[in-house]
Amino acid sequence: MGLPNATFKSLEISAKGLISRADVKAKIIKNTNKGIRFFVQRDLINIPEQELINIPEDSAILAHVNNISSTQRNTVLSNGTDSICLTEHFLAACALANLNNIDVYLDNEELPFGDGSANLWLELFKKHNLIQTVKESQIKLKEEIYIEDPNQAHKYIKAVPTDANFTATYQMDWNHPKIGKQAYTWALDKDAIDEAANARTFSTEAENQMLGLSGWIVGITETDFTVPLRFPDEPSRHKVLDLIGDLYLSSINPLNFQMQVISNQGGHYLNSLLARELSKL
Ligand SMILES: [Zn+2]
Repeated sequence: MGLPNATFKSLEISAKGLISRADVKAKIIKNTNKGIRFFVQRDLINIPEQELINIPEDSAILAHVNNISSTQRNTVLSNGTDSICLTEHFLAACALANLNNIDVYLDNEELPFGDGSANLWLELFKKHNLIQTVKESQIKLKEEIYIEDPNQAHKYIKAVPTDANFTATYQMDWNHPKIGKQAYTWALDKDAIDEAANARTFSTEAENQMLGLSGWIVGITETDFTVPLRFPDEPSRHKVLDLIGDLYLSSINPLNFQMQVISNQGGHYLNSLLARELSKL
């Protein structure tokens, strides 16, 4: 199952960012038990690796619920000075690959976006033999956690304790002929990581056009999708991907919990509230 993580020193990738529409460069370097941290370094391309690791610790943005500055449309982290947008797909890839203790240096305030799934990252991790999926969830949950959206009570997220490996279910209900009511469950001991990781971000085509994202992000028209889907239930799979990424902001890989997470029409906001509860355990 690949080389042990200890052999990994650093890796690099460059790909277009959704917000800047420019190439965002990322350099990932292993750290020692410091969790997953982001550093915004605008002139990254000119900084040698030995200098990167000497960057002051207080400029780090730790991937932790305490640093969430926005959950609108994407999950943004901030240390008060720098921000980092679109953390969820990267963190989902880290959870699925069971990667921790890394410093991520970026030359912009966002992660590279790729195709809107976690593929960009998992392919990079695969290439470097870094994928070591959690084999067995071992952390027990003492009691059920139930969180309702204070403004829309039909939306909720809950974590139910089990004696089995992690599972996550997303329940969607969209008034759309190709979506409607659908639910997708990803289970650690049953499903390959690609089954969640391959699912792309989606948005209404009207919104994509307004934001100039048409042709990049899967668009939903009144009756259909703008591109063929990778799975009939790709939207709910993507919501599971977001959920796994956001829950890693508890600082503990969510795949380690013996729990069944169920999100009923939730999003980044409810995910972040559950991550907060998990971070207290
Ligand atoms: Zn997403």
